[in-house]
Formats: sequence, C-alpha cells, structure tokens
Amino acid sequence: MSLQDKDKKYVWHPFTQMKDWIQEEQLIIEKGEGNYLIDTEGNKYFDGVSSLWVNVHGHCNKRLNSALIEQTKKIAHSTLLGLSNTKAIKLAEKLVEIVPRGLTKVFYSDNGSTAIEVAIKMAFQYFQHRNKKEKTKFAYLTHSYHGDTIGAVSVGGIELFHSIFKPLLFDAIKLPSFYCYRCEFHLEKNVCDRECIKKSKEILEKNKDFIAALVMEPIVQGAGGMIVHPEGVLKELAECCKKLGILLILDEVATGFGRTGKMFACEYEKVKPDFLCLAKGITGGYLPLAATITTDEIFSAFLGDYDEFKTFFHGHTYTGNPLACAVALENLKLFEEEKILEKMEEKIPLFNRCLKIFEDHKNVGEVRQKGFMVGIEIVKDKNTKEIFPLKEKICIKISQNARKYGLITRPLGNVLVLMPPLSSSKDELSFITEALYKSLIDILGE
Ligand SMILES: *Cc1c(COP(=O)(O)O)cnc(C)c1O
Repeated sequence: MSLQDKDKKYVWHPFTQMKDWIQEEQLIIEKGEGNYLIDTEGNKYFDGVSSLWVNVHGHCNKRLNSALIEQTKKIAHSTLLGLSNTKAIKLAEKLVEIVPRGLTKVFYSDNGSTAIEVAIKMAFQYFQHRNKKEKTKFAYLTHSYHGDTIGAVSVGGIELFHSIFKPLLFDAIKLPSFYCYRCEFHLEKNVCDRECIKKSKEILEKNKDFIAALVMEPIVQGAGGMIVHPEGVLKELAECCKKLGILLILDEVATGFGRTGKMFACEYEKVKPDFLCLAKGITGGYLPLAATITTDEIFSAFLGDYDEFKTFFHGHTYTGNPLACAVALENLKLFEEEKILEKMEEKIPLFNRCLKIFEDHKNVGEVRQKGFMVGIEIVKDKNTKEIFPLKEKICIKISQNARKYGLITRPLGNVLVLMPPLSSSKDELSFITEALYKSLIDILGE
C-alpha cells in the first residue's frame, strides 16, 4: 500500500473534511530545507504559513538541530512535578527578560490551548483566594480564537468552529468585533466615533463585579481572518480593565515571537497584561511547548500553608520538557544574534509593497497586514462585500492551486493567508505574493 493510501486509511486530519480529503490527491512532506517543504516526490514548496504559524528560522536549522541533539545526549524528559530541570529554569529566566516588565512567573504547558486554559483557571482561582467569589465570568471578543479545548472554545468567537459545542461550554461575555471592514455598527473606518470601544467599555463596566478577566488576541486576531485592530483598541481595553479590576489575559500564541514585527504584539501599545500566553513560535516551530506568564500579584495569591489548599492544581505531563526548552533557548539566541527583528523592519515595508498588486483586483475586498501576518479577504462583489458561498471553496481552490507555483498556504474561510517564516528573504516575500496572485487570477480571472 502506498503512503498516500495508508494516510487515508489510518490518519484523521484536524480541521479537515475527511470525505474531501480521501477523494483528492494529497501532498506528503518528507523534509524541510530553510523556508521550503519537500514532498515524497521531491517537489519543493515555499512554506507560506510557517507550518501553521510556528516556524521562525526555517526548517532544519543547523543551530536548532544541534541544540536538540545536544540535549538528547543529556536527557529527553524529566518532570516539573516535584523536580526541576536545567533547561526549564534557564528558559523561564530568559522569557521573563524579554516579556513586558512585571511578568515574572512562568507556568509551562504544551500548546496554545492549554496556555489559555491555565490563564483562565488561574484568573478564576485568584479571585476565589482574594475573596471576590462572584468574579467567575470571562469576557472575549467576537471573532476570537484561543484554541480547541473546552475552556478555550468557551471564550472563542468563531461561530463555524464553536457553535456546535455550545452545550458543553461555560457562559462567557462577548464584546463586539473590531473588524472595521465589516463594522457591526455599520460605521466608516477612521471617521467613526469608535462605537466598538465604547460598547465594549459599557459591557465591561456593567459586568465588572462578575468578570474575572478579559481574554483577547492583541493587535491581530489570527484565525478569525487576520483581523488587524484599529490603533488604540488594546490600550483602551487594557486601561478599562485595570480601572474596573478585571484581569487581562493576552493570547500571543500567534502574534508572539516576532510575527507582527515586534517580539510581542502588546509592545505596540505598551500594554502589560496580567497573563501572557505563548506557544507556536516559542520553539521556532520545532516542538510543542507553551508558557503562561503572570505577575507576582497573581502568584502570591496562591501562597499559603499546604492545608489551605491554595495550590494551583493543574499540570500537564510533559510540562517544561527539556528538549523543547533547549530548542526554545536556542531560538531566542538566534533572535538576538541574527538580529531577526531588525531585519524584519526592512522586510515588512517591502512585503507591504508586494501586496499592493492585490488591491485593485475585482474580488479583493481588503488586504490586511501586520508584520508577517497577512490576510487577503476575497469577496464576490467589492461594492456589497458579499462573499462567495463557502461551499464554492474559492479560497481553498486558490490556495491549493498556488502549489503549482511552488507555494503552500492555507486560507481562513474567505480570507487568503500569508504568514511566512521570519527568515524569509526579500526575494522570497515577493515570490510568494506573486505566486498567490497568479493563483488568484487562475481561479477568478483578472
Ligand atoms: C493556534 C492558536 C491557539 C491554539 O494553539 P494550539 O497550540 O493549536 O492549541 C490559541 N490562540 C491563538 C491566537 C492561536 O493562533
């Protein structure tokens, strides 16, 4: 049996309609080289979504490979329950150095969803210990995505993914969207009176006695369609939370580690959250690892005599895995030594210029970019902003057809996505925008 057939026989793929999957020819990746993926037939494709938003320095990076190999010679795994390990300690110290000042305590887990679960449970338990027992609710944004576990889905705002699970979820308080292109108040971007912020503040104010925390993706909502928030949203919501005694959980699982052009997106508006959730790029895209980083104030509420049971009773088996931590440390070294963020400062405006070719196309509603996070919203009609029916799978077709031009990408509903590794060169950035554009023309015409 071919690998292709075995895949179809044995593997159930995530976020995938398996009926379609089984009928179509699939690519099977065998290796990676720099920013490229190579399939079992030897074809080479640019990794246009950084292997689902995780890859930073390219594949098979010598430095990351050797950090991993060196660590395997020492130990692959040991637990953080009742023991510690050298790499988890060193990484925690390093993370505290680079995150906004005041975030001082690192709690490890192994993926973005669990980083959020940890923050939610900590925020909840914090108020129980502080005797504000009625603060049990969470606020979240329309179009938000925080992962696929039940707690993360409860604060998720994407109907298509989340509505079926409603009966399983806890109640949460929804704030409006900050999706200017489709403003829910039908206002015009830049000349509006920011009804979305006003309304959010009202909802927070009204429910302040019940809300433990606001959970949000700062600056860019990724899975919701690469929605770039208007300037000031983060700052204003953060200030409002502070004033009302609501904790702020920032989900930088996608935006963290340079993806928007700064190490963390919250730096754009100088916001310091009570919890910072990190995953995806933390190991440069090598291994599953996540961190929920919080303050002394939160941490201290969990201190007490053993029989007060103030312990945070939560932990994942592979928490603080030494292999993952060793690679994460090397990832951060590469950021410094190779001046990744400085180099991005030059590459981002070039990427922006390349993307301009999309703007005049009859089916492009909006091009959104923050750093290396790009969403191109496809519409059937530019004037009415009507979208193609999902069943036509237009963006899926455009994305799959782009393979012909050597580009792998994966859309989000009616939004085409480019999220290349930070190691992409200027030539590669222009190559991928052209490849995607050619594919768009193939499917929808000039
Ligand atoms: C991917 C993502 C998550 C979930 O991370 P997993 O590792 O897939 O569990 C959470 N939040 C954001 C913003 C993400 O992009």
